[in-house]
Amino acid sequence: MQTGPQPADFADVRATNLAVVLRHLRMNAPCSRADIAAATGLNKATVSSLVADLIERRLVRETGMTERRIGRPATMLVLDGSPYAAVGMEVNADYMTVVAVDLAGRKLLSWRRAFAGSSANPGQAAASIAALAKRAVGKVEKEGRRTLGLTVGVPGLVGADGIVRLAPNLRWHDVDLRSALRKALGDPPYPIEVENDANLAVLAEQRYGGFAETGNLIYLTGEIGIGAGIISEGRLMRGERGFAGEFGHLLVDPSGPVCGCGRRGCLEALAGVGALVARTLPDAATSSPTELEPEVEEVVRRAKAGDPKVLDALAETGKHLGHGVATVANLLNPEVVVLGGYFVQLAPWLIPAAEAELRARSIAPEAGGTRLVASTLELGAAATGGAARVLDTIDSGRLPTP
Ligand SMILES: [Zn+2]
Repeated sequence: MQTGPQPADFADVRATNLAVVLRHLRMNAPCSRADIAAATGLNKATVSSLVADLIERRLVRETGMTERRIGRPATMLVLDGSPYAAVGMEVNADYMTVVAVDLAGRKLLSWRRAFAGSSANPGQAAASIAALAKRAVGKVEKEGRRTLGLTVGVPGLVGADGIVRLAPNLRWHDVDLRSALRKALGDPPYPIEVENDANLAVLAEQRYGGFAETGNLIYLTGEIGIGAGIISEGRLMRGERGFAGEFGHLLVDPSGPVCGCGRRGCLEALAGVGALVARTLPDAATSSPTELEPEVEEVVRRAKAGDPKVLDALAETGKHLGHGVATVANLLNPEVVVLGGYFVQLAPWLIPAAEAELRARSIAPEAGGTRLVASTLELGAAATGGAARVLDTIDSGRLPTP
């Protein structure tokens, strides 16, 4: 009869313990080997062996001795990770963003490009996404860093297989973006993932925003569409096939305008940024979605100047948004709903109307404690979340080989 762990189990335990040490250092560095042993319950010999492994992989480095400590001075450890880069991208109907961070979360680059997402066909779009990814990967690798992974956020339904089932505002059906990128990037040695953009953005809020301790958090993308990334009781809510969070397609007005999905009266057809621009700037020369940014800036300029038509349009948009938020608040009772994307600039005008509607439509007193706030992350939160997602896989024990 066989006793003791199988080799595979042993490798699993070691990977888990390496991840435990790495996470402890991420939260508490600088600390000594003895600190890690005391905090994690691993014995000191095990910690020394794990740390030696992490140093060999250049994930951790030694940084001098303690001075103020009673007893023998100890060598302190910090996360290194400078030889590595995690890359995240966000694709929208009007722009793309790419972000690279090192293992300690320091931003290495953040680029934004205009992108005619609604008029490009999927093949052209994949080529544009791959070209920007290639430049970012090329830059970090030229600086001597190894790419740990690439995660791309897309506004739509994304299966676990990396296939974008539907992205109405990009007009995509069944686009195998992951395979297309893998091919366009020459079958690179790092993993490529494709994920819903709101799911990535809410992970970025949880990791880098003001809500690290918030277990019930919803992030709303404020683009032409409005997706929701939902963290409920500390976990990302993905649903059966990963399609949860299609906030923009809540029905709010059966006689409302036609949505990008082809149905009538969806929330995003009333409260998306495209709808807002059409409502506030009906005389705007262009309705091209590639020019949303200057149009949003114009809305903000007119709102600041007190233009009554623009203020009314913003209040109406906020009211629709609050209607949608109330529906979700009645279901999920979040602590915070974060407005992201273009909503950040518009938040001073949207939030008062949205909050009033949220309170009016919530069954719970005080809207169940749900607060509406603007994101502190810039445009491209989903790209940052894509990079965070790559770091999460390291934290969970999938370490790069030495
Ligand atoms: Zn819709």
